[in-house]
Amino acid sequence: MSCTANGVADALRAAASAIAEHRVELIELDRAIGDADHGENLNRGFAAIVSALDSAVPDTPGAVLKLAATTLISKVGGAAGPLYGTAFLRAATKVGAVSELDAAAVAEALRAAVEGVQARGKAVEGDKTMVDALLPATAAAEEAARVEGADVAAVLTAAADAAAKGAESTVDLVARKGRASYLGERSAGHLDPGARSSALLLRALAEAAR
Ligand code: ADP
Ligand code: MG
Ligand code: MG
Repeated sequence: MSCTANGVADALRAAASAIAEHRVELIELDRAIGDADHGENLNRGFAAIVSALDSAVPDTPGAVLKLAATTLISKVGGAAGPLYGTAFLRAATKVGAVSELDAAAVAEALRAAVEGVQARGKAVEGDKTMVDALLPATAAAEEAARVEGADVAAVLTAAADAAAKGAESTVDLVARKGRASYLGERSAGHLDPGARSSALLLRALAEAAR
């Protein structure tokens, strides 16, 4: 895939499929330490992104990312909708108006996205949130982008691998942000739903990029 507007649109369609496929899993993860809506929330948002893309794919990768952002912000309630919306919005702003993204641009977009999540949600690494998947993913993406000849697929694959590990690391953590934090110590022993969805999204984007 080349990372043009159409390529990014296809990657978002792949992300939507992954969320649909894992909807029940995300609901069950959120049932354990939250309010059981994470899978439904995200599925609604990503289905709306696909509908919007079906009517028209915007001209540039940045405009596609911005469409995803505004759709998530308007269609998804709860914590994750605005947080993912902010992530896509910051990524959109970072990539600007170029017609195609290269490996470095994708790593920069990821860094902007996670900074946006942290600016909005105030979570740091170890708080048992999506940040625990997104921060190591971003570091891995940046490292991969520095390798001579690295392509977008290599950057996103490194990010997805690190996100999967980061998500797993949330099992042992006690939640300090979001609904799961109401459980205190009882939140330990469960995978964070937002960290899991971040890992799923990055894996889908990486596979679409190959
Ligand atoms: P809600 O908790 O409002 O029902 P969701 O269930 O859709 O929203 O999303 C829950 C996920 O959002 C959590 O698993 C966590 O990863 C993420 N989250 C919650 N609060 C924050 C925060 N302040 N910063 C980063 N991520 C957060
Ligand atoms: Mg929830
Ligand atoms: Mg909720």
